[in-house]
Amino acid sequence: MLALQAYEARLCPVCGMDSRICHDETRFQSMRAKGRVEVCFARYERNRALDEYRGSGQADPLAEGAITVGLTAPPPDIFEEDQPSWR
Ligand SMILES: [Zn+2]
Repeated sequence: MLALQAYEARLCPVCGMDSRICHDETRFQSMRAKGRVEVCFARYERNRALDEYRGSGQADPLAEGAITVGLTAPPPDIFEEDQPSWR
């Protein structure tokens, strides 16, 4: 447990890297790491659903900060041709 606490204490609260690396400009630059922009489509979809909820006119202002957004997948279409069949 002490080892875990020591490990977690070293993690940067901003990026999650070992702060001995990301807080040391020289050491970080020696890694030659380059940033890139990517999109997490799960978060993107959650943002879309939240925006729809807020724009619905039925959003409860007291719920701000208490809202959770889940992801659900539609059920598989059992009548679609390329689905495996047991017939
Ligand atoms: Zn950091």
